[in-house]
Amino acid sequence: MDNIIQVKDVVYEYSQEENSLKALDNVNLDIKKGEFVAIIGHNGSGKSTLAKHLNAILKPKHGNVIVAGINTKDEDKLWQIRQSAGMIFQNPDNQIVATVVEEDVAFGPENLGIDPEEIKIRVENSLKAVDMYEFRNKAPHLLSGGQKQRVAIAGIIAMKPDCIILDEATAMLDPSGRKEVMETITKLNKEEKITIIHITHFMEEAVEADKVIVMENGRIVMHGKPREIFVQVDKLKKLRLDVPSMTELAYELKKSGLNIDKDILTVDEMVINLCQYQ
Ligand code: ADP
Ligand code: MG
Repeated sequence: MDNIIQVKDVVYEYSQEENSLKALDNVNLDIKKGEFVAIIGHNGSGKSTLAKHLNAILKPKHGNVIVAGINTKDEDKLWQIRQSAGMIFQNPDNQIVATVVEEDVAFGPENLGIDPEEIKIRVENSLKAVDMYEFRNKAPHLLSGGQKQRVAIAGIIAMKPDCIILDEATAMLDPSGRKEVMETITKLNKEEKITIIHITHFMEEAVEADKVIVMENGRIVMHGKPREIFVQVDKLKKLRLDVPSMTELAYELKKSGLNIDKDILTVDEMVINLCQYQ
């Protein structure tokens, strides 16, 4: 199967009242196996509501969400869905359940009823995959925010998921913690072929994705490769969104009359472009 996630005509509203504002307003989205997708959008645009539909925390009022071939409305398959699509949330402290790192990582597979010998192997491999193996006997509360998020990611990987959904998982981290988490999820995507759905308000992180989805008022309003999205600076500004700092600089330089590519995303691309003027 090509699509690991299919969101079809999904409508969701938190209030039961008629004509209430829709948190998701007819969302359609297909995510292919192995893709790295970034979701951006202003506060309240519906990103978290969409994320919660992807592992059946919320069920659509209209339409359907299919995860690894299972409809999230299928109550009997709830654990299969949660195993397949793991979520990482914003606050690292709310996701740790045990007092020792390796016990925390074992929690998910234990709940799935997996054989203890197999759990041991999975915990070891998962901690190695996020580069936290040397911390296996440590108390989680002593770790940095970035390390805690990596332990939370290990807990998800230990359940052998198809995809990981990160809902602003880097928002509370310092720059080095953000870098650790980005490196970890990029590696899991490239090497383990795990599908990544990364909700973020850091545009430099969205640049790393294969595909960027922009939400506004419960709708997907833009959808494309990072370069195709970020070149539309005026449109993004209207949506009250930032653009990557190098894209912004290129936009300003172009406005001031410099003949520079307007779809610059990174420092390297900026350097190459500017060197043409020497
Ligand atoms: P985002 O994650 O993009 O900031 P959300 O999905 O959290 O957006 O919110 C989408 C809309 O749904 C907003 O208008 C928000 O106020 C509303 N909303 C979110 N959670 C709740 C809730 N638990 N109860 C009522 N309204 C909610
Ligand atoms: Mg949110």
